[in-house]
Amino acid sequence: MKLKKSVKKILILILFCIILIFSGVKLIKYIIYVNSDTYKLINRGYKENEVKLFLEKLDKKKIESLEKSKKNDYLYNLLNQKYFLMKNLDKYEKYLNENPDESYKNVVAIINTKANYNWYNKKQTKNSDTSKGNLILVNKFNNLDKNYEPSKLKKISIQYAYYDNFIKEEVKNAYEEMAKNAKEKNLKLIASSSYRDYNSQQILYNRYIVQKGTKEANNVSAKAGYSEHQTGLAIDILTDNITMSEFENTDEFKWLKENSYKYGFILRYPKNKTNITGYAYEPWHYRYVGKKVAQEIYKEKITFDEYYAFYIDNK
Ligand SMILES: [Zn+2]
Repeated sequence: MKLKKSVKKILILILFCIILIFSGVKLIKYIIYVNSDTYKLINRGYKENEVKLFLEKLDKKKIESLEKSKKNDYLYNLLNQKYFLMKNLDKYEKYLNENPDESYKNVVAIINTKANYNWYNKKQTKNSDTSKGNLILVNKFNNLDKNYEPSKLKKISIQYAYYDNFIKEEVKNAYEEMAKNAKEKNLKLIASSSYRDYNSQQILYNRYIVQKGTKEANNVSAKAGYSEHQTGLAIDILTDNITMSEFENTDEFKWLKENSYKYGFILRYPKNKTNITGYAYEPWHYRYVGKKVAQEIYKEKITFDEYYAFYIDNK
């Protein structure tokens, strides 16, 4: 009987200890939680899915600053953009602050491609990385040396081009196949201008300046060294008896717009992308990037500048 009593006492003591430990653990857990980033962010008004994404993507410093400042609505949206680059976060925020009406998608595109700077801004300009082959980027911030000449330039068949049009061999083959397939649909593609060296670009650009003034010339023409035509990867495509400005309304254009990517070409200066490319809409200007990249750019409705910033420059 005595023994039983003491067993009972011991059991009660054990139970008490268990409860104590259990409560203690719970209390510690609670203290940890209250001091956690999750708690602090939720306390700031962020939803659970927002907090999860922040903790997954942002560094300690950024998280701490979020915990200390008023809830913002833009960060979650920015982080969810397909082409978001962490290294540009501060720049996105600054730009968004100055341009609150711009869409998140545009903010990311503009900052990634540096289109927030003035075109030809000296500090932002660098030499194009010519080791990128078909994916070499030439735009208003990336230029080619005066002496750069692409390898393996071949003449495009006069069946599909005006006289004396040269282009890189791989591009020639892709273009001629495309023009042949278009012809089977009674569409006539004519390469009107393809490879242009530095000097001929300079002559062309200067002519535009005289005709249209510097501002308008920059909208439609590239400074020497800054033209994609110097890469041997770009072709201006027209059809018979048509001016450049009329090309948009032809069946040839409609076909190219939907099919050129299948041959590795992209419409390089699309409508409504002037703020990214720095060029007015050019329905005639096609750039060879190879089938895989062309398909991606077509599917995603992005410019090559955006593609390059995200997939190539970022690596
Ligand atoms: Zn062109």
